[in-house]
Amino acid sequence: MSDVMADQDVGETQPQEEIPILFLHQVERTYKQGDATLHILNNAELALWAGQSVALVAPSGAGKSTLLHIAGLLEHPDHGDVYIDGQATAALADSERTRIRRNEVGFIYQSHRLLPEFTALENVVMPQMIRGLSRAEAKKRGAELLDYLGLGNRLNHRPAELSGGEQQRVAIARAVANAPRILLADEPTGNLDVHTAERVFDTLAQLVRASGLATIIATHNMELAARMDRRVTIKDGLVVELE
Ligand code: ADP
Ligand code: MG
Repeated sequence: MSDVMADQDVGETQPQEEIPILFLHQVERTYKQGDATLHILNNAELALWAGQSVALVAPSGAGKSTLLHIAGLLEHPDHGDVYIDGQATAALADSERTRIRRNEVGFIYQSHRLLPEFTALENVVMPQMIRGLSRAEAKKRGAELLDYLGLGNRLNHRPAELSGGEQQRVAIARAVANAPRILLADEPTGNLDVHTAERVFDTLAQLVRASGLATIIATHNMELAARMDRRVTIKDGLVVELE
């Protein structure tokens, strides 16, 4: 294991703690569409243990992004709660939810969402400085992470000077820069060609294994999903285990 991941030392894929690192309990989310009410999540339950990787496989419109945004405290459920390491979050003040999200959750989107006017390294340094690290510390860890992800010679490139796969690897580095315990990825390879997607996914899977991150990856790719510890889908608003 690389030093850069050494401060995240869970490292097992079997559930070994009594409390899941992430627990969605009776989560409900509806959207109004004209006169109709769409029950996207309806009493959804999902427990994720430290070190576990879960593929979320469901058709477009099934509610994958909705689930990930709620799990990552980016959105509120209409009912139910999200427990992060045993702590209920629904009733917390926004500032506290933001603090937990910053410390515990990394998010990767389908498009990289890097800041275009900043270099790869600066994009990875920024969230760490927001969390309170010194610039020197943040740069050291950022450079190590990018190097670990195969971008050691791209530190000073801006996003427009990187390939799609490289951009997404910078986004992965940014997502784990603050050593979160939960990584949520919303179709992270969905914009990449098959070959590049495969390589980015390999990198992501390797990092997840080495770090002991608990991970949910939404993907349409069953081959990639097959490499995760578990596969779940969303059916009638519920999270259902596959296989
Ligand atoms: P997925 O990520 O699986 O494609 P989403 O979670 O984005 O699905 O969306 C699930 C459903 O909820 C879709 O039918 C979508 O149209 C609907 N939806 C998502 N966001 C909103 C919103 N802000 N307002 C109304 N409907 C929404
Ligand atoms: Mg989506």
